Amino acid sequence: MMKASLYTLGCRLNQAETGIIAKTLVDRGYEIVEWGEHTDLAVVNTCTVTEKADSKCRNAVRKAIRTNPDAFVAVVGCYSQMAAKLISEIDGVDLVLGNAEKLRLADHINGLQKLDTPRIVCSRLVTRDDFTIESESTHENHTRANLKIQDGCDFICSFCIIPRARGRSRSRKFSDLMREANQLADKGFREIVLTGVNIGTYESDGHDFLSMITELEKIDGIERIRISSIELTTIRRELVRHMAESEKLCRHLHIPLQSGDDTILDKMSRRHSAQEYTDFVEYCVKTVPEIGIGTDILIGFPGETDEQFRNTKKFLADLPIEYFHVFAYSDRDNTPASRMPDKIDPDTKKLRSHIMIEMGKRKRYAFCERYIGKPVDVLFESIEDGLWTGFTDNYMRVQAECDKHIRNQMLTVVPERIEGDTLIGKLV
Ligand code: SF4
Repeated sequence: MMKASLYTLGCRLNQAETGIIAKTLVDRGYEIVEWGEHTDLAVVNTCTVTEKADSKCRNAVRKAIRTNPDAFVAVVGCYSQMAAKLISEIDGVDLVLGNAEKLRLADHINGLQKLDTPRIVCSRLVTRDDFTIESESTHENHTRANLKIQDGCDFICSFCIIPRARGRSRSRKFSDLMREANQLADKGFREIVLTGVNIGTYESDGHDFLSMITELEKIDGIERIRISSIELTTIRRELVRHMAESEKLCRHLHIPLQSGDDTILDKMSRRHSAQEYTDFVEYCVKTVPEIGIGTDILIGFPGETDEQFRNTKKFLADLPIEYFHVFAYSDRDNTPASRMPDKIDPDTKKLRSHIMIEMGKRKRYAFCERYIGKPVDVLFESIEDGLWTGFTDNYMRVQAECDKHIRNQMLTVVPERIEGDTLIGKLV
């Protein structure tokens, strides 16, 4: 049996797509082995959201070649879409596939014949049509299943490469995503995570984002539906009211902010002001009391002054949110921001990122602290540091001791203390 090994960089959508690629290989008789083990086929599913992501991709590709010099090496996804030639010049790469081709990798591997000249198949992403996915994802070792519902983006934020790497916004055909969601329920998955690039713009066969969710809620066996990252201007207040009533829709929203300063938001071509963000977050907290809200912050945007950074810091300090992910700005080819003057030096970016990361930890701690002694429901996923680990619906990480196998079980825990970003407690 031929062996295949896959490595994913970047977002949840990439993870979902790697799962689909793996399934197509399993259907062709491949055995999927752990990354780093001996393999006949090594696949790197890449990301290009920052300069750092690009270099991580190159390192992963080189490591794959060093570890399995005889393996057929395929590099696919966003970085391949943007830098196919550069990647093909890495000695040992056999195939470079763009985002339109990557899910059909199994049709391109040509019996794993290593080639003198790497093959590049990377077409421009122009379609806006609804799409279907022939296969479904394998979700190896996953309790939460990523369900791809949308791809591409029309928002064109000035710093962002994604619209060029993934094309214009398009939705998955409603019947097709329902087919996979039912298959996931049949396989025993209790939580599905809705993934895409700009998922709030979902629209297919008369269903918008909210009506699609209400249909998913009707599937027996699916107990939780989690919304992954979603843009502020695409969330209707009706969805928040529905979240307050719903048994299944997780009380969790990850809403990218990027900056808390209006001048910077403007230069980023973001579609909302800082005040609009605050108003919406406050509406959510009032309407869904236990809601967990997370965000993304982009530090060091061209021209970001000390004062503008302080505005972002103050803005987040006052906001009732649970956590944030911090990214340092880096030029992306041909984006409007890459042509802007007054780039921020690396040390300043590093210092500002560090300050925000530390603040994020305090935010998370303060949010979790409210649950000490208060029973919470946890969907257990895996054993980490000897303890069973899982998440609440409002996205708190929880650990508890148990000598039974409780993977994929929803159980109640009474938290007793916090360690790092995790609540530690006793199973009820
Ligand atoms: S909304 Fe903006 S940041 Fe998000 S993918 Fe689209 S262009 Fe990029």
